[in-house]
Amino acid sequence: MTKDIFYGPDFDLLSKQDPEISAVLLSELKRQQTNLQLIASENFTSRAVLATLGSTLSNKYAEGYPGKRYYGGCEEVDKAEYLAIERAKSLFGADHANVQPHSGASANIAVYQAFTKPGDTVLAMSLSHGGHLTHGSPVNFSGKWFNVVSYGVRQDTELIDYDELRDLAIANKPKMICSGATAYPSLVDFEKVRAICDEVGAIMWVDAAHFIGLVAGKAIPSPVPYADVVSFTTHKVLRGPRGGMILTKEAHAAAIDKSVFPGMQGGPIMSAVAGKAVALRECATPEYQKYSKDVITNAKALCSALEGEGMRAVSGGTQTHLALIDIRGTGVNGKVADERCGNAGIVLNKNSIPFDPEKPGITSGIRVGTPATTTQGMGVEEMKTIASLISRAIRSEDPAVLSGIKSEVHALTSKFPIYNA
Ligand SMILES: *Cc1c(COP(=O)(O)O)cnc(C)c1O
Repeated sequence: MTKDIFYGPDFDLLSKQDPEISAVLLSELKRQQTNLQLIASENFTSRAVLATLGSTLSNKYAEGYPGKRYYGGCEEVDKAEYLAIERAKSLFGADHANVQPHSGASANIAVYQAFTKPGDTVLAMSLSHGGHLTHGSPVNFSGKWFNVVSYGVRQDTELIDYDELRDLAIANKPKMICSGATAYPSLVDFEKVRAICDEVGAIMWVDAAHFIGLVAGKAIPSPVPYADVVSFTTHKVLRGPRGGMILTKEAHAAAIDKSVFPGMQGGPIMSAVAGKAVALRECATPEYQKYSKDVITNAKALCSALEGEGMRAVSGGTQTHLALIDIRGTGVNGKVADERCGNAGIVLNKNSIPFDPEKPGITSGIRVGTPATTTQGMGVEEMKTIASLISRAIRSEDPAVLSGIKSEVHALTSKFPIYNA
């Protein structure tokens, strides 16, 4: 394993000073380079973003907002935050951007706090149909502090049931309606959701964590013109640093800013804020727009190739970067499939399918996504190969067969190197 150049001269220093952690950095890099990364929420961020994250901006306290900080010495980091805000507003056509949330979940806490009080009713996608923990899970603050009513997909189409959503909205009069999910392969009809919000006087909140990168690349329609508030992560298809962001209409700008700071966080992570600016600049390029379209083309190809292997695509396919696959046809459950694929160097996750007869720890499905492999430069041909590797791995209990598949995985990934010197 050769040392990778993006660690730069400081990597030598780290390996001398802390061989244990430097070994983790190197073996994690090797893991990312050699296995197939099909986790739908992961990506390979650029070296420029990584360089920003590993910078001295990490040392700076900057509580407050640019021009209104509680600490001195913020003149340089202010420039970075202004750039991130301006780039976000221009890329998404938003009135206002808050670039400080430490993560997607933090951004969502800020949204709840800005628009609701504990005990208020919020309508959000059911976790068992693809919603996120922060959409009302009983083990999450959202489920503990709010009266979250869940809507789901129709059993026949496995698509959001907008009639049910409207009926629930009329019956429960929510303060806020959340759309967006972590395991929903189709597009959300924002126009329909807006109409329902208007009918019942609810705030329209879109949690765009998963698909915002596709919006940034102009590959799918944007929620920004419709929603009062859009929260998201910056590290999924968007390919930026780990973090969160919130876009709002002007009328809600002050409420969101107050909710993030001082309402929910202390100092922003300025290295991440600068990394968000770098990623947003990358997202505005024709190369990124092509990338985001390729992500969808690849997801569709992977999805239909898996159907060709005797598995069923939930909701009949995908319109985004991820597919949810019902693998009951293979006779193997999601948990076992996940383990077998892992042993074969294929990193994906087990996932409940709508109306899943299995428990969440077992599941009848897997979720696969194409943001990372597309960043590597893989295309439709590779997706067909990957589907066949997945199918063989899922159907094999023999460790020797799985390790043979792993060799094939390594041969494939070696043709699409990432972060190589
Ligand atoms: C990933 C995700 C989040 C949480 O993001 P973290 O950065 O992991 O906190 C929130 N909402 C949705 C819909 C997500 O997919």
